[in-house]
Amino acid sequence: MPYSPVLMRGDALAAATNSETARRAREYFSATGTRPTLATVLVGDDAASATYVRMKERRSEQFGLGTRHVALARSTSTDELVDVLSSLSDDPAVHGILLQHPVGPHIDERNAFDTITPAKDVDGVTSASFASMALGGRGFESCTPSGILRLLDHHLVALSGKHAVVVGRSPILGKPMAALLLRRDATVTVCHSRTRDLEHHVAEADIVIGAVGRPELIRGGWIKPGAVVIDAGYNPGNVGDVDFSGAVGRASLITPVPGGVGPMTIAVLLAQTVDAAEAALSQG
Ligand code: NAP
Repeated sequence: MPYSPVLMRGDALAAATNSETARRAREYFSATGTRPTLATVLVGDDAASATYVRMKERRSEQFGLGTRHVALARSTSTDELVDVLSSLSDDPAVHGILLQHPVGPHIDERNAFDTITPAKDVDGVTSASFASMALGGRGFESCTPSGILRLLDHHLVALSGKHAVVVGRSPILGKPMAALLLRRDATVTVCHSRTRDLEHHVAEADIVIGAVGRPELIRGGWIKPGAVVIDAGYNPGNVGDVDFSGAVGRASLITPVPGGVGPMTIAVLLAQTVDAAEAALSQG
């Protein structure tokens, strides 16, 4: 019998998370007279990246955070970017730093990310944050994987002992997703562009995470009946990595695109910025 899946609406959960963030930002303002502040750094003039950054700034302002925007020319060198990120890391008026990915092929992105002090790494992109996700420390989590976990928890999806298949292994999405799922005692398979027989792996999954950036790569017919399907992919034309219309008759829970994972990513970014501001305050 086909399943009637429940839609996992990230926009609804994000609204609740954001209103809690706004309440915390107001309390912070009452205590300090300043706002938890997110600095965004954009290198170059890629239209999609500029839109993402604007959206993050708009949401920050909407929910009571301060913003600082640094726009750098496409020709910016790694050393120049490192200088900017170092001075933001040292600036007590900035609590969180977001370097918009990608930064351009001539820049050593890993070096740039790792310049961000872990205490302000609210996007969860530094090696230190990755280590704490993998090893169970107290650092910030990568926003999209963390938002996905919040969605799964909100829908009471048990993770322990479940077989989770993550399709994609990027440093900002697939790898931290796998680390966080492993920490929650899922059995994790990570697939990537060299994986043989992707269909076979996806068909074994209790939980499928699409994190590729290829429209509808994951076919609906591959989904095990009753599986939980999370689509983090976002491709032109509001199309995800999962063939949604094919998957809805088989999945028990599924995220829509848009309105699924995307709003949760931003909600986690804002919440972690307030976390960073509160932590800085408590450390004097
Ligand atoms: P990325 O850096 O390009 O990584 C894509 C991953 O997919 C790589 O690991 C790649 O494997 C793998 N891959 C490519 N073709 C494949 C294939 N045919 N079969 C299996 N795996 C394949 O992308 P990303 O930054 O992680 O983003 C992935 C998607 O998520 C994009 O659509 C992006 O827009 C979306 N995204 C959404 C949010 C959100 O907030 N909703 C946030 C971030 C990203 P290799 O490692 O072997 O190359």
